[in-house]
Amino acid sequence: MRLKDKVALITGGSSGIGRETALLFAQEGCAVVVADVNDEAGQETVALIAATGGAAIYVRSDVSKASDCANMVAVAEQTFGKLNIVFNNAGIMHSDDDNAMTTEESVWDLTMNINVKGVFFGCKYAIPALQRAGGGSIINTASFVALLGAATPQIAYTASKGAVLSMSRELAIIHARQNIRVNALCPGPLRTELLMKFLNTDEKKQRRLVHIPMGRFGEAKEMAYAALYLASDESSYVTGTEFVVDGGITAAYVTPE
Ligand code: NAD
Repeated sequence: MRLKDKVALITGGSSGIGRETALLFAQEGCAVVVADVNDEAGQETVALIAATGGAAIYVRSDVSKASDCANMVAVAEQTFGKLNIVFNNAGIMHSDDDNAMTTEESVWDLTMNINVKGVFFGCKYAIPALQRAGGGSIINTASFVALLGAATPQIAYTASKGAVLSMSRELAIIHARQNIRVNALCPGPLRTELLMKFLNTDEKKQRRLVHIPMGRFGEAKEMAYAALYLASDESSYVTGTEFVVDGGITAAYVTPE
């Protein structure tokens, strides 16, 4: 087992990447705290883990709220005695997120509050717990859009993921000598609810697919395996990376027909 006796906190654990990662971590011997605002789906993640004999608990946490983030960390330590791994993964992609001229300030603020402040709070409150545990691994979900521009605009989302990437890099340096590793996971476009809701027509989907050398969307499970590596001691010399798992998009100039 690759995470035996570890304790992980996963935000956005009710769905998509977060849920798949929670299930995989539990399978690898890790106790999991699932934090989300979708209570029903979060309880479902916990039930799926319990059904396979794993340990998990759900805690309602809006990552844009400081008190909720302080609480999710406290629940992890109270329930499982320590915290070793933090996956700051909760995020939104607003359907009205567009170019700079048309995007409402409210859409910008909401996106920044969840995608950026949520990661900041996740680190702010979890780092002392990781220090108490003698170190740990933080994985922050950024995106390939933090590395490449797109003509299909989502200005707030893109800016938010750039912030996650640079914040992760700096945190990695600050805490490098405290046995705390921080990496940003940069997924490519995935076949999860978040993106499929945004690319809601075949034409929009096709417009993305032509840019992916592998010719398909990624799966949440494929991100979970990357998170597992970054969470485990197998990546003990890996910190401050932009860990790209994107079907080759960022390597491509022209994609195959
Ligand atoms: P998803 O919508 O399936 O899951 C996101 C989860 O975050 C949901 O369970 C949702 O309830 C939760 N959430 C939303 N707002 C929250 C809040 N304020 N507090 C706590 N939880 C909240 O999406 P996903 O595809 O699994 O996305 C996970 C992460 O991956 C996000 O940060 C997303 O930006 C990023 N990402 C996704 C893709 C993609 O193509 N799907 C690509 C790159 C990066």
